[in-house]
Amino acid sequence: MARLSDPVTILKGVGPAKAKLFENLNIFTLRDLICHFPRGYEDRTRLVPIEKLQPDAPACFRAMVMNTPRTTHIRKGLDLTKVQVADHSGRLNLTFFNNKFAAEQLQYGKEYIFYGAVSGDFIGYNMTNPVFEAMDSPPVTTRRILPIYPLTAGLSNQVMLKTVRQAMAVCDTPAEILPEEVRQKYGILPADRAYTAIHEPGSMTEAELAKKRLIFEEFFVFSAGLALMRTARAEKKTEAYEDTDLTAFYGALPFTLTGAQQRAIAEILKDFRKGAPMNRLVQGDVGSGKTMVAAAAAYCAIRNGRQAALMAPTEILAEQHYQSLGRLLSPLGIRTELLTGSMTVREKRLVRERIASGEVQLAVGTHALLSDATQFDNLGVVITDEQHRFGVGQRAKLSAKGSDPHLLVMSATPIPRTLALLMYGDLDVSILDERPPGREDVDTFLVGESYRPRINAFIRKQVAEGHQCFIVCPAVEENEDLSIKAATVWAETLQKTVFPDLRIALLHGQMKGAEKEEAMASFARGEADVMVATTVIEVGVDVPNATLMVIEDADRFGLSQLHQLRGRVGRGKAKSFCILTSHNKNQETLQRLKALCKTTDGFKIAEEDLKLRGPGDFFGSRQSGLPAFRVADLSFDLTTLKEAQQASAEWIDAYGASDLPEAIALRERIGDLFLRAEGTMN
Ligand code: ADP
Ligand code: MG
Repeated sequence: MARLSDPVTILKGVGPAKAKLFENLNIFTLRDLICHFPRGYEDRTRLVPIEKLQPDAPACFRAMVMNTPRTTHIRKGLDLTKVQVADHSGRLNLTFFNNKFAAEQLQYGKEYIFYGAVSGDFIGYNMTNPVFEAMDSPPVTTRRILPIYPLTAGLSNQVMLKTVRQAMAVCDTPAEILPEEVRQKYGILPADRAYTAIHEPGSMTEAELAKKRLIFEEFFVFSAGLALMRTARAEKKTEAYEDTDLTAFYGALPFTLTGAQQRAIAEILKDFRKGAPMNRLVQGDVGSGKTMVAAAAAYCAIRNGRQAALMAPTEILAEQHYQSLGRLLSPLGIRTELLTGSMTVREKRLVRERIASGEVQLAVGTHALLSDATQFDNLGVVITDEQHRFGVGQRAKLSAKGSDPHLLVMSATPIPRTLALLMYGDLDVSILDERPPGREDVDTFLVGESYRPRINAFIRKQVAEGHQCFIVCPAVEENEDLSIKAATVWAETLQKTVFPDLRIALLHGQMKGAEKEEAMASFARGEADVMVATTVIEVGVDVPNATLMVIEDADRFGLSQLHQLRGRVGRGKAKSFCILTSHNKNQETLQRLKALCKTTDGFKIAEEDLKLRGPGDFFGSRQSGLPAFRVADLSFDLTTLKEAQQASAEWIDAYGASDLPEAIALRERIGDLFLRAEGTMN
């Protein structure tokens, strides 16, 4: 027997070249292979009479070959084989391109099982390149439920299928972690049956049950892991802060805090007085003023003789925080410094020395702050901004820095309550549900292509008034789907034909990290009028002078994502606008987009998104900050998720510390999951 941790190369037919291909899919071991789940299935079990075949809907049918296949040589490299088949209900002409196998195998008068789709474009039925098997051959491509795997170039579904099957044959499936009691209560398949059925289901119902089990399992592990983390941290002790008087800090602010900001700060101070490390999430819509809450927390820690660290996901965001917090806190006698990856080695070393000596009281930076080279003298609180870009593994790593510092994570992604409970199970949550006064809503419009001249005129008007505009496209480069706008092409078109006199900048995810930062920083300095971008601009950056956000093919984005994008404007004093374009005619889609025009409440929008698109979107997206879920790509429903959460809570209560085999296996799996999360960070 092989072990789950053995490399895929122990399998027959998997040499170094093929192993490389598997690596592209993050498959290294037999476990990875067995946990490489199909993204869907083709039900080829049902045989359909020829007359019932529907255009473009592939199906299996049994038919007799009615003539000897005729192959014509059309030109070099193109041979056509034509043959007619029939069953009791009708006849069908089959055409094969360059298929010697079909030409040789199909025999006049014999019956075969075919699988393919009729094309509806012709008078009378026709089918191109069906797969077929003789009646007496074992069912491989017909008469079965065929799993369809996520693939990579050079690796076919058939090869994947065979390799997975081989792995299943040579080693045991991953250990059972769900006790029988839980499986019974929630109607969950045992592990070995689920792993077998997900790859080789006897029926679609069985495939569904297997999928449910694996999704349940993954969320069960995740949620149990967070619960264990939470318990472990709650048992830790730190010195309680004695001085939580923030009068001087409030006095230095140019405005009064909103009620929500005050509530969040009060919750943080209460945590500080408790004598156990804080683990708090501040969730607030874009513009709700999270930075001030962070500043208050940092100030309080510093007042108590500790250091504070504020971490941002990008250099430019770190730079902005450094500027604004430095300005705010230096009159209070606080020394703030910046540490980012792009600083010179010498600069970094000097800053690190001052951090280590305790001279720097507030360190602002990117994940350079997290590296082992950065040692603090007396770290009291770690704050991460836009936490959805950090993630669970990093949270764990952060707590390990210094002696259990307080942890404050800030996120602008409104997550529906039901999901927040699961995703942030290890954190207490403060919500900023109020906007600073005097901030107007961003007026949002949905328009069709006929408005193009008006959109362009509006862009021109904003620029003429000294403002800047964002244009977001769903794709980076031109691709198969010609109907959607690609940032690179659109930027060029605008520059050449529409706005030759304006300064157009480009920003997309395929640019290098430093290039992206520079493009964004340059735009923030006002060196371009219009920035054409992909969704990379989603996070955090403050360009108060930007007043217009145009989102092309808005139907391509989720509502929450659109809301995030819209949050890039309306950050200054001037009235701001968001224009959504779409040539989608689907009423439901348009309704969805119109809902966005009517509300600016991020939580309402997130709930709506959840209803419309299911939870997969929240978990699957790279924005979630969650560990890489193996099932995240499979669609699933909220019920399974809630059940898994409930089950894990019950389980922890009853068996959290037990040494039943399932409990031990579960703790191992939790370790793996969070380790994996850490591995995929940055
Ligand atoms: P976000 O929650 O998106 O991080 P910020 O902290 O960047 O929001 O705040 C957005 C803007 O609102 C900043 O310019 C900030 O100075 C300002 N701001 C924050 N709190 C208040 C307040 N209570 N009154 C007025 N303006 C505020
Ligand atoms: Mg912010």
